[in-house]
This record gives sequence, structure tokens and C-alpha cells, in this order.
Amino acid sequence: MQVLIKRQPNDEVAIVLIDNPPVNALSTSVAEGLGQAIQTAENDDRVRAIVVMGEGKTFVVGADIKQLEDMAWSQSSGPPRLHKLLLQIEDCTKPVVMAIHGSALGGGLELAMSGHYRVATRDAQVGQPEVNLGIIPGAEGTQRLPRLAGIEKAIEMCVTGKPLKAPDALAAGILDLIVEGDLGAEAVKFARLQADAKRSHPKTRERKATLKVHSSIERAMQTGRELAAKTKRHLLAPSRVVEAIAASISLPFEEGCAVEQRLFEECVTSPQCRALIHVFFAERALSRIPGLENATSMLIKRVGIVGAGTMGSGIAMACANAGLTVLLKDSKPEAIERSVSTILRNYESSIKKGRFTPDEVTQRMDRIIPQVTYKDFETMDLVIEAAFENLELKCSLFRELDPILKTDCILATNTSTLDIDVLSSCTHRRERVLGLHFFSPANVMRLVEIVRGRSTASATVATAVEFAKTLRKIGVVVGNCRGFVGNRMMFPYMYEAQFLVEEGATPKQVDTALKHFGMAMGIFEVDDMAGIDVAWRVRRELGHFSEPGIRKPLVADKLYETGRLGQKTGKGWYRYGQDREAIPDEDIVSLIRSVAKENGVRQHEFSDEEIIERSLYGMINEGARALDEGYATRASDIDVIYVNGYGFPSWRGGPMFYADSVGLDKIVERISVFEQQQGERWKVAPLLLHLSKTGKTFREFDAVRKD
Ligand code: NAD
Repeated sequence: MQVLIKRQPNDEVAIVLIDNPPVNALSTSVAEGLGQAIQTAENDDRVRAIVVMGEGKTFVVGADIKQLEDMAWSQSSGPPRLHKLLLQIEDCTKPVVMAIHGSALGGGLELAMSGHYRVATRDAQVGQPEVNLGIIPGAEGTQRLPRLAGIEKAIEMCVTGKPLKAPDALAAGILDLIVEGDLGAEAVKFARLQADAKRSHPKTRERKATLKVHSSIERAMQTGRELAAKTKRHLLAPSRVVEAIAASISLPFEEGCAVEQRLFEECVTSPQCRALIHVFFAERALSRIPGLENATSMLIKRVGIVGAGTMGSGIAMACANAGLTVLLKDSKPEAIERSVSTILRNYESSIKKGRFTPDEVTQRMDRIIPQVTYKDFETMDLVIEAAFENLELKCSLFRELDPILKTDCILATNTSTLDIDVLSSCTHRRERVLGLHFFSPANVMRLVEIVRGRSTASATVATAVEFAKTLRKIGVVVGNCRGFVGNRMMFPYMYEAQFLVEEGATPKQVDTALKHFGMAMGIFEVDDMAGIDVAWRVRRELGHFSEPGIRKPLVADKLYETGRLGQKTGKGWYRYGQDREAIPDEDIVSLIRSVAKENGVRQHEFSDEEIIERSLYGMINEGARALDEGYATRASDIDVIYVNGYGFPSWRGGPMFYADSVGLDKIVERISVFEQQQGERWKVAPLLLHLSKTGKTFREFDAVRKD
């Protein structure tokens, strides 16, 4: 039973309870059940008022996303699903009070707005986050929300998708009351008062007051479009939601709903929506990890970090934010000093932005204990090594740490590229060694690659998965190969971009094409930010280009040799001013041209399309290899890694989903052309070839393996 009516004997208020765990999603059966329950309560002469509530932790958190996915792939939204139900509730002759705890999001808020009144607990939140899935509210939210909150607020909420906390929602006019204490009892009391008032109860769709005060729809729409361009560039839904909200003012309710429906249909059948829903389910699929079905995890409370540089400091903040105690160790006192002042500066800027109070920052700083010794390391549950990227150094650290740590302590490395098995062989705890590959800045970036070595025990992986959740990060379990999954695919991406400039493009041209495509940053901007020396060290450490016949990028080493190390020295692939803006530099273009000439590299003009193909298809080809060899569990895991760690546009679904949408046969055709032009490194990956020959996609490959 998903919707039930709870009535105390002789009580005049019926409580309609929605019980569809885990989040009370508004599925078709819940909607039907609600309609029947409201009808029953309305027909019952003893009932004078109705309270609608959610069972469990929350009110209704949105529509059933599986149903949305069906719409997206069947290319049809079908008829409006909730229109009749919402009108039925709004036209109910008895007052209907929506009692909100937890969240009323998406369809949940749309349902709540059809009630005559809304009461909520102080910690509740309400919002229309649909844009995050590439759609607009499709159950009249764009028509009712402006009637409660005004057009500007409605546009802001729907364009950004950010929820409002209950006190703000009260101030905006979305809620009528915040209750302290027991929500059910208070809502019943409130409902009884409304029934006693013997007046008609407000129907949101008939409200007009908030609309009159806005003299210019055009001005509000313009502000909305600017907000959309600023916060959700490239996305279709934010501009469509502005259009739908504008219709709430210019058209009668029913006609406004028809406009919303048309725009909803346009969005839900768009490629962007399919991609965003794919990413949504891809993140949920991460919890299905082969071999971990029966593994038990250990609770991590105390974390030791070795190496207080960029990454160590960021990881320390991530741990302290999650309430964990952190020992932050470096070999150099000055490194510790620098780290503590960086951490403090970051936290102070969070105070300025209103993210933390000064008290919260004090608590966090207290949890981080800086030191230059291994004092108390024997009490740590987990130690994360984040020293320089050097195998010898890391091995010696692992040997040093192993006898100090308690037997069940997990020893992790934040290495970006080095072999976990070699590191674990330096210890007597091989089954408790793994990679925890954080991304910079580690206190902000959500991705952690959890690298399983040959000897890593399932319980160790399970503990790391839970640890990532504690840090509110997305942990993706991957295998131990060179660069793991993310950086392994990054190498061909980065090198191909460098070959492009050697063949006649400029760093600016390549980066602009990539950003038009939707990448958060250009690849040369990324290289300059991470440090030209870092990539140089990786090339040296891994011996990438030691094999004969492999094409070697020529310019990057020259940058390193001339001290152009990127942002840190003010010059790299670009020049940098005070504000760290990347300024194209004629000197670098001349250097590239002279190196190309010296080495006889033929020069071409490149279209944006060719830049994208050369940059991304190599990355996709490598992704197919990593998947085929079992280093990634699913193609969709690769998508999660790239969307959350490498700035790949979520609305393109990640590289493997993007490959599907281009068509694997077309990708193979282009890669074959590049192989003819460029040689061996463009050999088509066997899995990619197989899928394209059999007319399959990576998505289908994942689905088959799931069954
Ligand atoms: P960093 O140079 O900023 O910091 C390294 C720190 O380790 C320095 O403070 C140094 O004093 C300290 N250190 C060196 N030897 C030590 C020892 N024996 N004992 C204790 N501390 C010692 O480097 P980083 O950028 O933070 O990188 C650290 C690790 O994280 C590397 O393995 C790197 O590949 C990896 N990583 C870096 C990034 C990034 O973007 N910077 C991203 C992911 C992973």
C-alpha cells in the first residue's frame, strides 16, 4: 500500500500518508493512490480537513526518474500525468494542508503547491531541481510557483535548481507556517483552524497578487536568461523554464500549463536530458561492485596523512569537514607551516562566502593536527600517503610506515600514476593497501578513484567506498593500470592536443574548441594549472615515450627546460597576469612553429570538428581498452569519472555515452582514418571495433553485463 489514510476515531482531520520508500517518489501508482485517498476523505462526512504527509525521512522527493528515463528514450512525454490529480486536490471542498519534512523537491513541491496550505519543519527544504536532469518542472510548477513566490524568485529557483530552506521559503510565500515540535500534530492543529475559519480556501492557480507587482515580464525574463547563461551555460532547460514561467503571467492558467507541457516535451526528448539521466543512474550504479557483495567495511575515524602539500592539505580539509580527526605529517617544518596557513586561508574564504561560521572553522582546525613526526600514527585507522610522485620515495615511506601502523590500519596512496602492487609489496599488509586518488582541489572535487591492487582485500575496498561516502565524495572503484582509468585516458587526450598544435593549431584554438564543446577548461589551461613540471615528471617516471616508433610530443619538454612551468611561474602554454587569466602568447606560438620546422612536422589548418575528434576519440579509444581489460567495471563508471574529475560536460553524458551518441561506427571510421594518417597509436580498440561491428553501444554493453 503506497498511500493510506490514517484517522484517529472521532477526529475530523484525515491524514493521507504517502509511503513509497526510499524517497516517496511520485510514481503513477502513488498518484493514483493519492487521488483515491483524497476522494475518500472528501466523501467522508466526518472529515473536515485533510493533511498530506510523507512516511519516513521525507515528504515527496520528485518524480520517478525511471519513468522520466522511459520518456527520454521513447521520445515522448505522453499526456500530462498529474494534471487531474492536482486540480482535484486544489478543488477539494475541504482544506488540504501539505505537511513537509525533509524535502519537497520537483514533483514533490508541485504536489505541495496544489494544496491550499503548506506547513513545514524548520529543517525542511523545497525546490524545483529539474534543470539538473535537463528538464523543466512538468507538473505545473512553472505556473503555480510564480503565483506563490513571484516571478523573479520562481525564475531563480527553477533556473539554478537550488532548493530553498524552510525559513527562506516562508519569506518567499511558498510556505504558510514553520512548525516546531511534532509535524503531524501541528499540521492537524493548523488544518482544524482552517476548517473552523469557514471561508473558502486559497487555490494557488487562482492567485494573482504576486504577479501584479512586476511591471516588466521582459526584464524578469532577461535576468533569468542571464542567470541561465552564467550558471548553466550550454543547457537547454534553463532558458525553456524562463519561457514557461513568463507564460504564467501572460496567459490564463490552463494555457500556461499547455505552454509548460510543450516545453517539457521538448526538454525531456532532448539528447541533453538523456545524457543527464544517464549520469544520474551511472552514479547510482557505482554501488554495484563485483566481489564486494559480502564484504564488511571498517569504520574510519582517525586518518593520518603523509605529505602536507597541495593534495595532503586538501585531503586533510575534506576529512576535517566530515568530522574526522587528522594527523597531518610532513618531513619539512616549512611545508607544515605553509599547509596550515593555506588551510586557514581557504576556511576564512569559506566564512566570507557564508559556507561556515567562525565556530565551525575553529572546530575543523582543531581536528587537524600538524606534525613533523609519526607521533600517534599507531592509532590511525587509515593513512593516506601524499608525498611527491616518485616511486622510490613512496616505497621508502611505505616501508617506514608499515611497522608503525596498527595491524588493521589501511595504507593508501594518492599517487596519480604509480603501481599500487609495487607499493604494497613494500609492506606486510598487502591486503590492506590501495590507491585513493583524489583530485585537486581535494576539499572541493567530488571524485575519488579507489584503486584496487592485486592483493587488496574486498573489505579494504568496501571500507574505502564507505570512507568516500563519509567525505561526501563519489568513489569509483577501478583497477591498477598505468594512470588508473582517468589519467590513462587523459594521456592520449593531452598528447593529441599537443600534436595538434605542433601540426599548426594554437593552444588557444584547441582550448576554445574544447570549451565550445562543453569542457570546463581547455586542456592547455589544465596543463598550466597542474604544472608543466608535474606532467614532465610523470613522463619521466613512466617512460611513456621510451619505446621506439612512438610519437613524442616535442614542445612540452622545451617549456619545462625554459622554466615555463605554467601558472606558478606566470608562463606556460599561455601568459598569466594578476587575475590568472590565460593570455595567448606569441612567444609560445613562435616556439611551437620553430620546433615543428626543425622536426619537419607538416603544417595544416584545423577545423573545430577535427580538433574535437582528434582530442576526444583517442581518449574514448583508451577508455574502451580500460573497460575491455577490466580496469573499469562499466562504461558508465568512466563517464562518472570524467564528469566529476575532468570537467567533461554532464549534459553530454561523459565520454563513453558521448561516443554512443555520435555513433560507434562513425568513431571507428574516423579513428581508422587517423590510424592511416598518424600510425599505430590510433589502432582501434578491440571492444570498440566489436561493438561497432555488431551495432551495439557502450550503454548496451553495460546492460548486458548487468544481467
Ligand atoms: P606537493 O609537491 O604539493 O606536496 C608533496 C609534499 O610531500 C610536500 O609538502 C613535501 O614536503 C612532502 N614530502 C616529501 N617527502 C616527504 C616525506 N618523506 N615525508 C613526508 N612528507 C614528504 O605534491 P602534490 O601535488 O600534493 O602531490 C602529492 C601526490 O598526490 C603525488 O603523488 C601526486 O601525483 C598526487 N596527486 C596530485 C594531484 C595534483 O593535482 N596536484 C592530483 C592527484 C594526485
